[in-house]
Amino acid sequence: MTEHEEQGSGCGHQHGTITVVDDSVGRSLRLAMWLNLFIPLCQIVGGIMAQSMAVISDAVHNLGDFTSLLVAYVAHRIGKKDPTEDYTFGYRRVEVLAALLNVALIFGVCLFILFETAVRLQSPPEHISGGLVAALAAIGVVGNGFSFLFLRREAEHSLNVRGAMLHMLADLMTSVAVLVGGLVMLYRPWYWLDAVLSLFIVAFIIKSSWPILIQAARILMEGTPPGMELEVVRRELEAVSGVENAHHLHVWNIGPDTYSFTCHIVVPEQALSETKPLGEQLRGLLAEKFHILHAVFEFEHLPCGENDILCRMGKSEPQMR
Ligand SMILES: [Zn+2]
Ligand SMILES: [Zn+2]
Ligand SMILES: [Zn+2]
Repeated sequence: MTEHEEQGSGCGHQHGTITVVDDSVGRSLRLAMWLNLFIPLCQIVGGIMAQSMAVISDAVHNLGDFTSLLVAYVAHRIGKKDPTEDYTFGYRRVEVLAALLNVALIFGVCLFILFETAVRLQSPPEHISGGLVAALAAIGVVGNGFSFLFLRREAEHSLNVRGAMLHMLADLMTSVAVLVGGLVMLYRPWYWLDAVLSLFIVAFIIKSSWPILIQAARILMEGTPPGMELEVVRRELEAVSGVENAHHLHVWNIGPDTYSFTCHIVVPEQALSETKPLGEQLRGLLAEKFHILHAVFEFEHLPCGENDILCRMGKSEPQMR
């Protein structure tokens, strides 16, 4: 059997992809995380008092950032559990399920905000306290600003933290926009502005969560990992001497950063024991060139009737082989 190694991953909060955390997460990142819990909770209470959908949307976004990190931590812990006879692939996909659940939750809240905003656009509220809106947004500016500065110190070491930092910058801009909106409403009764700002924030939330949804769906569909070209993998395998043909290839994600692989390899007639060095060579090749750490080969001499690169599983009646 091949080694079941874990690939190293960066630490932290990565928007745009499923968050992968490891145990070396820095203190700054944790601090940024707690700020993202405390500030939105204040903002939600304040936003309800101020009757401002913009503040509530901003808070929901920040809270979503917190829950995505929290869920990633918990799922990563669970993901390390050893495989069992019931779950032979282990628990790595808990991270994918958790990310999907979090996005579903955030989208649900977005729907609620959109509904409330539509109602308000039809009949704008009599009064929104611009001063309170500006004050609550100011807390967001300070919180996101601090998070941004903390993360910037760690960003040189990790690509993931860099992604988180850029996201915090976008969050900072959002809070600044709400702050400006609050100041405008303090001096002008343009209360529709609140609903418009809230629409922009919801659009931003959906835009930053959408890639996570796509990535999770692809993993759950057993899709070929993005960037991996099946035809290239096949060519590399067939270039190895002793391999006549490679067909019926499958490569898929077990978790966000681990790949599994199976295929049929046609070889000249030989004793089964003689395929062992070839198998090791192919495994080494897949690990080195494609970071595939779990590969299973079916060595065959007589054609099995499925010479295509793709398997026809599900297209024809299952046969006993
Ligand atoms: Zn195995
Ligand atoms: Zn955010
Ligand atoms: Zn075959």
